[in-house]
Amino acid sequence: MCADIIDGNTIASKIRAELRIRAQALAAQDIQPGLAVILVGDDPASCIYVRNKAKACKESGIHSEVYNFPGETPQDVVLEHIQTLNANPKIHGILVQLPLPPHFESRRIIAAISVEKDVDGFHPCNVGALVTGHALFYPCTPYGVMMMLKEHSVLIEGQHAVVVGRSNIVGKPMSLMLLENGATVTICTSKTRDLAMYTQTADILVVATGKPCMITADMVKTGATVIDVGINRTATGSLCGDVDFATVKEKAGLITPVPGGVGPMTITMLMSNTIEAAERAIHANAF
Ligand code: NDP
Repeated sequence: MCADIIDGNTIASKIRAELRIRAQALAAQDIQPGLAVILVGDDPASCIYVRNKAKACKESGIHSEVYNFPGETPQDVVLEHIQTLNANPKIHGILVQLPLPPHFESRRIIAAISVEKDVDGFHPCNVGALVTGHALFYPCTPYGVMMMLKEHSVLIEGQHAVVVGRSNIVGKPMSLMLLENGATVTICTSKTRDLAMYTQTADILVVATGKPCMITADMVKTGATVIDVGINRTATGSLCGDVDFATVKEKAGLITPVPGGVGPMTITMLMSNTIEAAERAIHANAF
């Protein structure tokens, strides 16, 4: 068996074309969706992510503003800036690039963002809303995974979904979204004994650990859908996922590659959340 590949670039392009149409509809009402990105410090990976987000905004008809604060900026200065952005009607989405320098309390920073502008979906109120099945914004990476499953008509209801990883940005929200869609969900972590025992029974396996190629073919059920969220840099400088793609693709039914899988979807869903925030702002102002 050789798996069909879930091509994140193709799905992302299709969604972005739809987003451009929505942005044009907003433009016809004199609204341009706006995203503000706050970057503190000069972490090279964060700088690249922020640049890519600004580029994606431009392509999607979204106005973007990047605020790059020096690493030693006091937390209160950034909190104050978030308040200004919360009150700015031209800004519909606010994102603080993580990780923040050690003297910052990420939880306080994220909680300062207006819930209606929390396009990353990390605000505690949005997390709570996700738990109760009423999310205002889905976190971008798991949202992108759900769109990939939808695009390939992967049955979720009644299936056993195994999520490896329990981070707040990927593993936990991913598990909740699969649960919301009727899957029986198992969450595995670094503390799980006999990981393979769980992964071998997964109809849908989502891996987000940051451990290169840790999922091997013997850990995967024949015909399973395997989603690799991991992005790891190898010694030679190339990228690889958390799944051993070369061997697992021979056993899985559907699989995402790295690069070109979940990565392009994450940024696309950020654009989608920003446009959605702008659309909601119009409705909110209409009453
Ligand atoms: P974190 O480091 O925050 O979390 C990793 C999780 O994996 C933890 O819950 C950890 O368990 C678990 N884990 C680690 N080792 C094992 C193991 N051997 N067996 C089982 N579980 C294990 O990472 P993130 O969730 O932020 O990111 C995960 C990966 O996804 C990274 O490679 C990251 O670069 C990538 N990523 C990709 C994105 C994309 O757009 N494609 C977006 C975001 C992240 P424990 O909690 O017990 O320590």
